[in-house]
Amino acid sequence: MLQPYACDPAASRGRRHLEAQAPTRSEYQRDRDRIVHSTSFRRLVYKTQVFLNHEGDLFRTRLTHSLEVAQLGRSIARSLGLSEDLVEAVALAHDLGHTPFGHAGQDALNECLRAAEPTSGGFEHNQQSLRVVDSLEERYPDFDGLNLTFETREGILKHCSRRYAESLERREPGGIGRRFIDRAQPSLEAQLCNLADEIAYNAHDVDDGARSGLIRIEQLEEVTLFSRFQREALAQRPSLTGRRLLFDTIRRMLSAQVYDVLDATRASLNNAQPNHVDDVRDAPVLVCFSEAMARESIELKQFLRVNLYRHPQVVSTTDRAKEVIRDLFAAYRAHPDEWAAEGETASLRKLSDYIAGMTDRFAMREHERLTGRRLFDE
Ligand code: MG
Repeated sequence: MLQPYACDPAASRGRRHLEAQAPTRSEYQRDRDRIVHSTSFRRLVYKTQVFLNHEGDLFRTRLTHSLEVAQLGRSIARSLGLSEDLVEAVALAHDLGHTPFGHAGQDALNECLRAAEPTSGGFEHNQQSLRVVDSLEERYPDFDGLNLTFETREGILKHCSRRYAESLERREPGGIGRRFIDRAQPSLEAQLCNLADEIAYNAHDVDDGARSGLIRIEQLEEVTLFSRFQREALAQRPSLTGRRLLFDTIRRMLSAQVYDVLDATRASLNNAQPNHVDDVRDAPVLVCFSEAMARESIELKQFLRVNLYRHPQVVSTTDRAKEVIRDLFAAYRAHPDEWAAEGETASLRKLSDYIAGMTDRFAMREHERLTGRRLFDE
């Protein structure tokens, strides 16, 4: 049952190219299905979340991360009377624009583009996710991209520079760039995906960090959120140790964050009393943690930044990943025939789309082929 403040697929602001309604599926179900069947979605299996795909079979990839975000998002959406299908569509699409090698790849590609053409606007994965669904997927006879609804696209474009918002606004007046100019909020479903993303990666990075041996459990015990639930787990089962204790702690941590979001969001909805998604757009952010949970979540995030994302072993991988992207950019720029179709204008933006679309291992293999150097052992 959708609440009046939810996005109703029957009242969608529609698609950029007019299409007849599907006989059995709502507009958001249809968006979700298009995303699942896209090429970019399948590539997520082989794209880095934190650990490179070939470093271990059990670490999260962009795909399993996106599935976890969708699971958490749907579960919260159902309790709040929001559109589960829209949340699922946004969650599954939110990382489609990621480069190979995660944030390291993005940073390197951004630097390459800006150095080659200072007015290019660089590279940003959120904007790229939108480009993927708006123009880069080639599946339909009548249009580029997946022709998703306004609400799904609004959720995918999580943040964006003023300049990019203005360029979107010129192409699509009153469209998804508008809210960044007006400083308005997106739908509750979009807000929820942001938070579900954060809840998901905080939890799975603890798991992957511990599994990889880069983070020790004793270090985690210094983090308030973790230690609280580890104590709770041990109070109920004093004999718990090792992996089961870790999983039980993470499971409790996840549940507590979900219930916290439900309570805090119900309170802010009660306060703001939105009766329509447009009221939501004019209100402050409504899907939120309590203040106490927000603090604990930031503490955990900072812990992961210092101890996992900046771990010497991760940084060493990151540095080589950046080198791969820089070398690929330079080699392809010098030899457009390596990647551009005959007769195609080999613009820098197209080059950046080509590199961004690569999986980790395709990028590594191309790097070795073009430079004769092997930076990673597969
Ligand atoms: Mg994400």
